[in-house]
Amino acid sequence: MKRSRVHIAHKEVIPGTPNDYDESSLNLIQDMVSEAVDGLDFSQMVKGRSVLIKPNLVRPDPHVPSAVTTDPRVIIAMMRHCLDSGAKTIGIGDKPGIGLSCRGGEELLGLGKYYGEVGAHFVYFDESEEVWEENPPGRLCESIPIPQVLREYEVLINLPKLKLHMHTGVSLGIKNLFGLIPEHFRMKHHREDLHRFLVDYLYLVKPDMTIIDGIWALEGQAPICGTPVQDFNAIIASADIVAADSIGAYLMGVEPDEIAMIRMAAQEGFGHADLDQIEVTGVKPDEIRRHFKRPVLSSQNAYPGIDVIVKGGCVGCYSSLRHALDRLHAAGHLQEDPQTIIVGMRHKAKEQNLSDHPGVLWCYGNCCVEQFIEYHEGDENSHWLEGCPPHFMNFYRAYLEAMGIDVPEQK
Ligand code: SF4
Repeated sequence: MKRSRVHIAHKEVIPGTPNDYDESSLNLIQDMVSEAVDGLDFSQMVKGRSVLIKPNLVRPDPHVPSAVTTDPRVIIAMMRHCLDSGAKTIGIGDKPGIGLSCRGGEELLGLGKYYGEVGAHFVYFDESEEVWEENPPGRLCESIPIPQVLREYEVLINLPKLKLHMHTGVSLGIKNLFGLIPEHFRMKHHREDLHRFLVDYLYLVKPDMTIIDGIWALEGQAPICGTPVQDFNAIIASADIVAADSIGAYLMGVEPDEIAMIRMAAQEGFGHADLDQIEVTGVKPDEIRRHFKRPVLSSQNAYPGIDVIVKGGCVGCYSSLRHALDRLHAAGHLQEDPQTIIVGMRHKAKEQNLSDHPGVLWCYGNCCVEQFIEYHEGDENSHWLEGCPPHFMNFYRAYLEAMGIDVPEQK
């Protein structure tokens, strides 16, 4: 396979924040986006064609400048650059986190006036018909549901965030495709099999270009509760999604071969993960590389009063639970009242004396259901969280309810 090309555009200083910016900040970022993609035949790719831009929206928060979602400035710059390059139509689309509709995500993102400026529109994947497409090369899924509206676009531009991820190691171009999966199917492969699932998905949906937003990046308890790296100031672009992710990972201090989905995607011919096979233009990776603080996956003894007992669980529940606890803590809702949370395969409650647990007891995930039924069902202080794994927001909301705290409305 011929060498792949990745361009890194970087500035020492970028004024403004993801939530507070003016035209000078936008112009600077647009210059970076143009620099990153123009050497990659971008105009030729989009000219006269319908283009879908896929940012990472997760759950935009208009009040808090964050590095969780793709920076709105990068989305605006990308829309403008598509228009300048002669795109026929420009759609922006992502299905945000579970429980949040596309319209809710669009409203929180608040870019309506910019859509008008460039003639773009939002694409509502969750209102589209879905088609189960056959996927013969897939190792996990023979078929995968695809929102039909996705197939109405000729060019897919992938616009992920540069961030670490406690479940998959990094969240970059390949992981960003998860936002195209219909909500009802998302938790079906959300354990260690998430890597394999995402690579299976690449057989059906392969972006034409991946442009990673590293203006602000995210380290620590990423992808949701991490700490923004506010001066990373980079845009990384490539037509090779594996090469883009490999360089993105490297820039955060992660070797590409640490990440299962990158290894699998490279070995199955989706692109290069070997840095010697990637030609980098623009800034040299080692000039801006850092070693990001890695996320902690375990919830054991992470927060006072929360006794997490782990026995034979897996990354699905570990990451879901840690996400939920971190988010409750960040929101100031995590109480120090005693709580016991059991994760993984059945415990022998009598041996472990869990029937006498102080405070509220949670059996987390389907692995715990037998234990719950046998020892705790009917006890008003005991709860079972259904799912393999449960979605972290389900625990978040159940916890608030159990503590008598108002549960926020979902859009
Ligand atoms: S329920 Fe069990 S198998 Fe499923 S994600 Fe949780 S620990 Fe893993």
